[in-house]
Amino acid sequence: MSLRPEEISSIIMQQIDKYKAQIEMADVGTVIQVGDGIARVYGLEKCMSMELLEFPAPGPDQEPTLGMALNLEEDNIGCVLMGAYTHIREGDTVKRTGRIISVPVGDALLGRVINPLGRPLDGKGPINSDKFRPVERIAPGVMKRKSVHQPLQTGLKAIDGMVPIGRGQRELILGDRQTGKTAIAVDAIINQKGKDCLCIYVAVGQKQSTVANVVQRLTDTGAMDYTIIVSATASDPAPLLYIAPFAGSAIGEEFMHQGRHVLIVFDDLSKQAAAYRELSLLLRRPPGREAYPGDVFNLHSRLLERSCKLSDDEGAGSMTALPIIETQAGDVSAYIPTNVISITDGQIYLESDLFFAGQRPAVNVGLSVSRVGGAAQIKAMRAVAGSLRMDLAQYRELAAFAQFGSDLDKGTQARLVRGERMLELLKQKQYVPMAVEDQVMSLYTAVRGYLDDLPVNKVLTFETEFLQHMRTNRPEIGKAIADSGLLEKETEAKLQDAINEYKTIFAG
Ligand code: ATP
Ligand code: MG
Repeated sequence: MSLRPEEISSIIMQQIDKYKAQIEMADVGTVIQVGDGIARVYGLEKCMSMELLEFPAPGPDQEPTLGMALNLEEDNIGCVLMGAYTHIREGDTVKRTGRIISVPVGDALLGRVINPLGRPLDGKGPINSDKFRPVERIAPGVMKRKSVHQPLQTGLKAIDGMVPIGRGQRELILGDRQTGKTAIAVDAIINQKGKDCLCIYVAVGQKQSTVANVVQRLTDTGAMDYTIIVSATASDPAPLLYIAPFAGSAIGEEFMHQGRHVLIVFDDLSKQAAAYRELSLLLRRPPGREAYPGDVFNLHSRLLERSCKLSDDEGAGSMTALPIIETQAGDVSAYIPTNVISITDGQIYLESDLFFAGQRPAVNVGLSVSRVGGAAQIKAMRAVAGSLRMDLAQYRELAAFAQFGSDLDKGTQARLVRGERMLELLKQKQYVPMAVEDQVMSLYTAVRGYLDDLPVNKVLTFETEFLQHMRTNRPEIGKAIADSGLLEKETEAKLQDAINEYKTIFAG
């Protein structure tokens, strides 16, 4: 039997044609169901989790609506739609892009406000970056890390003194609404000026006006030069709120792996959890406690594990995270707060009662801890503020008793007097972060009893004027503390002199 070469080649040609057609088939699917921002798509067998899918555009000359594949089921894919979706109908075609959802990264982002997909929101033109990173990434393993050992100063006495934070640490800020959570994070960002630390503020489910306020404040203080804002506001679709913290982390990781230091704020993760709950319920995943899906713990832990201190071999970069959680009526034992408390390396608990009583920042000393930051605190601060927590705890107990008005012995009275002044000194206005040497000198006055004979309402005036006096007349003391990080005997003696000297001026 003889074969004609033309016949064979035509068969091969046909085969090749068909082969192409099959690939085409696998990359285009059809919408089988759509509603509530969710679409079910048939025919995309090769689709990856978190892959971007293209749906038809809402109108001519418009960009296609994007979706993100979340549920990969046996015969269909559940995906969330990010953008206008009312025009999408059953039977519409859906294209794979082959891209996992990703964001632009790099220095071009500094000073910019973007959405979680990397689109600019500040009207300053396109982002000039050609490097992208997938928003989801597995956190660095144990061998790539090092323990936290460098301080990250927030510039707030109450925090740097009592709940110190180190570079690469994850410190949760939690409290009811309007207790100054955002204020602490913003102050920490402002304080990073000239400290070789880039900042990322991720706004999740905030009001547009709140975000605009933060941007304005950071611009006014010159902090925008080293800050990036990733914003998914309350009016954005839930999928954007869900990916915003991941997008911020991806941007931070780029810097961290270059050996740089990053501070990232997630404001706030309760809203991300709520957005994730919304998506999960719409995707018909089984609800668990408080109707959150079972993997909401994993959601936050895989996010926060990405913030770490890298080992020297990896470039010694770090990413410090300040996640924020809003509690309801001070309930720290609700589902999401307990989850995030257990994931992080400590928490700063803010209390409404303190806030309304004028104790701002409203840090509850008893419930706030920093599990690793102590190792990163500078020695001078540890020497001065070491006993602050205990002293304040004793003061609170005594103060509760003293309310009964019984006769108090001398020792108790002295403790009450000292405690009251310490608490007063921990108050601090917004947007005026303090250098660490100023904090040391200021706390020294209270801890060593130099303020005991001042009326409580004069404490803060004394502090301001005293530090002013030190800057103009005795700058060498502050400099010695800042340079060495220590409070040496000699410096301490000079400091005591200076305090006594200024006290006479202040009294006169
Ligand atoms: P929300 O729950 O709305 O996000 P929040 O807990 O983030 O609120 P902030 O917005 O930071 O709270 O602060 C609430 C209000 O308290 C703001 O008006 C802010 O200016 C004020 N405030 C915060 N910290 C201080 C402070 N240290 N001194 C004086 N005022 C402060
Ligand atoms: Mg806030």
